[in-house]
Amino acid sequence: MSKKTKFIFITGGVLSSLGKGLTSASLGALLKSKGLTVSMQKLDPYLNLDPGTMNPRQHGEVFVTDDGAETDMDLGHYERYIGSPMTRRSSYTAGWIYSQVLSKERRGDYLGGTVQVIPHVTDEVKGAILSIASQDLDLALIEVGGTVGDIESLPFLEALRQLKGDLGKSRCLFLHLTLVPYLSTTGEPKSKPTQHSVKELRSLGIQPDIIVCRSTKPIGAESQAKIALFCDVSKDAVFTAVDVDNIYELPIKLHEQGLERKVSSLLRLGRTEPDITPWVDLVQRQANLTKSVKIAIVGKYVELIEAYKSLHEALTHGGLAHNARIDFDYINSEELKPDNLEKYLGQAQGILVPGGFGARGIEGMISAVGYARNKKRPYFGICLGMQCAVIEFSRNQAGLSKADSEEFKPKCNHKVIFRMTGWYDHNTGLRAQRKADDDLGGSMRLGSYPCKLKPGTRAHQAYGVEMIHERHRHRFEFNPDYINILTSNGLVLSGQAPESPIENPDMPWPKLVEIIELADHPWFLGCQFHPEFKSSPMHPHPLFKAFIGAALTNGGRHGKK
Ligand code: GLN
Repeated sequence: MSKKTKFIFITGGVLSSLGKGLTSASLGALLKSKGLTVSMQKLDPYLNLDPGTMNPRQHGEVFVTDDGAETDMDLGHYERYIGSPMTRRSSYTAGWIYSQVLSKERRGDYLGGTVQVIPHVTDEVKGAILSIASQDLDLALIEVGGTVGDIESLPFLEALRQLKGDLGKSRCLFLHLTLVPYLSTTGEPKSKPTQHSVKELRSLGIQPDIIVCRSTKPIGAESQAKIALFCDVSKDAVFTAVDVDNIYELPIKLHEQGLERKVSSLLRLGRTEPDITPWVDLVQRQANLTKSVKIAIVGKYVELIEAYKSLHEALTHGGLAHNARIDFDYINSEELKPDNLEKYLGQAQGILVPGGFGARGIEGMISAVGYARNKKRPYFGICLGMQCAVIEFSRNQAGLSKADSEEFKPKCNHKVIFRMTGWYDHNTGLRAQRKADDDLGGSMRLGSYPCKLKPGTRAHQAYGVEMIHERHRHRFEFNPDYINILTSNGLVLSGQAPESPIENPDMPWPKLVEIIELADHPWFLGCQFHPEFKSSPMHPHPLFKAFIGAALTNGGRHGKK
């Protein structure tokens, strides 16, 4: 462990969904723009081992890191705001922590001692937190999920309390995010919920150094003073995270109130002022968009837009690159039928089918692909969206009318999308055997893999380089048995893995197909990976930029109809 890394612990009170992830990420961005090296970590109090198997409709998107961890969607905010990649050490759940303790107990590591929450679970939490510290890291921002007062988060908070003792006050800072509501009857900001939440935190031995109040408007000097008095912090340590129209305004709003200056003085991080011009410039550009482009997203988790968080952001970034606002149209694929496509998709300038799992709603997605192909409407298929494009093409252009994916029709004749029986495992470095079908965790191709682009294709044009690395999260693949028939009918394989997945001299395996496109179409591209995870407002992803560019040029006349 490094002697140098300092820690900011971020807790939340009163309610969930106050925007703790965004506040943490914004503070991380400000500290990074002071020239400090910053990393972030999320501790989630639930008992799932990781968010990988959680329903996106309940929990939002599963964010994937380069090293193949399936993590909380807040890590997406962290990457987009601080601009550096997170790793599997950036996200821990209580379930994972307990599983470590239980395996150690079975191995006899505790030498027959009684295994307890304190110290065994708390030690494991402290080890997880300290795992991100390093000689090169100035600051680690540790966000604790959930709300103070929840039973589940107690071991985490106790571990933080202990860490302050272990590391010393000079290396730890506690920031607590609460809610200050306004009463409609009197128009007054109410500080009582904040007082109660801080009281709860103090009863656990944690005194916050900084309080950030989420509120619809700035809370004013009087409330600030009251909160400072009751919660035992100085007045200049109470800030407002005011509601913003554009989430990228938050770093600016917090900077204007002097948040990172206060953090810097408490943790002695130096007086360098952050350079926030890129954020100001970004917000200005977003406020002055001159065009708009209507994009239909045909998916299955459309009830909760959070399920497509990174995708939504990446489209916004792609629009920004062209000075265009995205007019999002989320369409439930179950509603699409061959006879209502015009009604749902007629106005869309670009059509996108995102990632997803399971058979429900698939035929609607395939119909949307067919519509985009026939009407020459720009199409972008991501992971499942690429697989649907391959199925549609096989059925309607390559004469394989029964083509399907092994995921939806395990017994079909033409499994153009199939499941490989072995896979390279990031954790062990070995080619993993297919996991038992009842173990849904970790049986996927996860994390970053290289892909070689074919010169002259749209993918190559978009990226401008030949070798790329993108993040994957899927069980099924383009079936190489169908490469010949599909390419001879016009499908272009514009990106493939640089090496074969299975080294078998007797039966050489083709390289895995990672990107497909159509030559006789303005812009039709499907990728097996998830490019949305690597897009940020400062660096819009090349494929999103190219897709929006195509939608603006080629989808325009349809959109105006
Ligand atoms: N369900 C598909 C698979 O597992 C696609 C996954 C995805 O879109 N992320 O291969």
